[in-house]
Formats: sequence, C-alpha cells, structure tokens
Amino acid sequence: MIIAIDGPSGAGKSTVSKAVAQRLGFASLDTGAMYRAVAWRALQDGVSLDDGAALGAVARTHEIAFAVPKGPGLPQRVSIGSADVTDAIRTAAIDRAVSSVSSHPEVREALTRQQQRIGRSGNYVVEGRDIGTVVFPDAEVKVFLTASDEERARRRVEQNRQRGIGSIDLAEVLEDLKQRDDRDSSRSAAPLRAAGDALIVDSSEMPADEVVDQICAMAQGAAAC
Ligand code: C5P
Repeated sequence: MIIAIDGPSGAGKSTVSKAVAQRLGFASLDTGAMYRAVAWRALQDGVSLDDGAALGAVARTHEIAFAVPKGPGLPQRVSIGSADVTDAIRTAAIDRAVSSVSSHPEVREALTRQQQRIGRSGNYVVEGRDIGTVVFPDAEVKVFLTASDEERARRRVEQNRQRGIGSIDLAEVLEDLKQRDDRDSSRSAAPLRAAGDALIVDSSEMPADEVVDQICAMAQGAAAC
C-alpha cells in the first residue's frame, strides 16, 4: 500500500509521515530529501541552478540512498554517492537552492522514477509535493496537509532549533517558506497541488496525533476494501 502525504513546507509532513509509518509498520520515503541531495551535489560541483540538462545528469548519475538511523529519535541517514548529507541538506543555502533545482523536468523525471521504484518495493508512506498527483496517482490513501503560514514557520524554526541546523529567525524562515511555496506551486512540471481525490487536512490547530489517527483510520479502511 502507498500512503501519499503532500503539502507545502513546514506543514508537518515529516512528523506525521514517520508516526504513521511507525504505527502501521510501513517504511517511509522523504522525497524532499532527494531533491535536497541533488541540490547539494549541484552546489558542490558548481552546476548552474538554471541548467536543467546538467542538473538532470546529476540526478541520474549519483545514487541517493536512505539508511536506518543510528539511534532512536534520530533522523534517517541520507547519502548521495558516497557522501552522507543528512545534515548538509538542511542548511539555509539548500533551502534557497532546492526549489530552482526541483523545477527542472529533467530532475523530476529522474527522481520520480527512483521514487516509484522504491515505493513499489513494499508498504510505504511517501511525503512530498506531487506524490498523489504524479508519482503515485493510484495511491490507496492520499492526504494534502496544510497549516497557516505563521504556524508552518514556527514549526520549522522549532525543528531547526532541535536539529541545530538552519535559520531560527522566524521572519527569515517565513519569507523562505513563502518564496519556496510560490516557486513550487507555480512551476509547470508537477506543481505543488492537492490531488482531486486527496483528503485536505489543515493541521494549524490540530495536534499531530490526531492527524496520525485520521490517516491510520483511512489506511485501515483502504486495506479492508
Ligand atoms: O519537503 P522539503 O521541504 O524538504 O522539500 C524541499 C523541496 O524539494 C521543496 O521545496 C520542493 O521544491 C522540492 N520537492 C518537490 N517535489 C517533491 C518533494 C520536494 O519538488 N515531491
């Protein structure tokens, strides 16, 4: 089964996806981390963020892999080629670069193919922007998670503070989220939008546990069908 969780930055997708996966015994796939890893490699190699062909080649040639965390509560390790980029992909520089990288169809094609291959290997909770619309349009459960701009910025600051990486300036984070949402929603290739058959959940005032309960109930309903 595939549970697709889409939505804008900071809506709580990661927290909710991991909790749903843990409760149901599913694996989870953070597709944003894959776009971030390609952005990181491109910046390291001095590839122009406007060069779709060269960025597509980066996405096709370097394998992105996920490994189990080194301890409870720690993030899943992410690598591209031989480099562990778990922390490096969460910096403000990557926040600024990633939506330019993800706007190129060449990059999206390469990563979509990898995401489909991974997701078809078992039961997955997949989080991203285009999972219910493009990557897994037949996903059994589709959720579009949103929250107010201010609440999303507040959560992202808290996450950055806990990780010790990225900006903890609320105004700066809010500005970055808005710009990224704008770019992600207005691009022509697989823009950020809810699938017609997705349940739209506004988590601004809903505790994460309640969102998790709701998604697990949908998954159990889908499994019984
Ligand atoms: O989820 P996260 O904020 O880490 O995603 C980083 C960026 O990756 C997004 O702003 C978006 O540009 C891109 N992305 C995407 N499609 C996905 C997941 C992420 O375009 N499925």
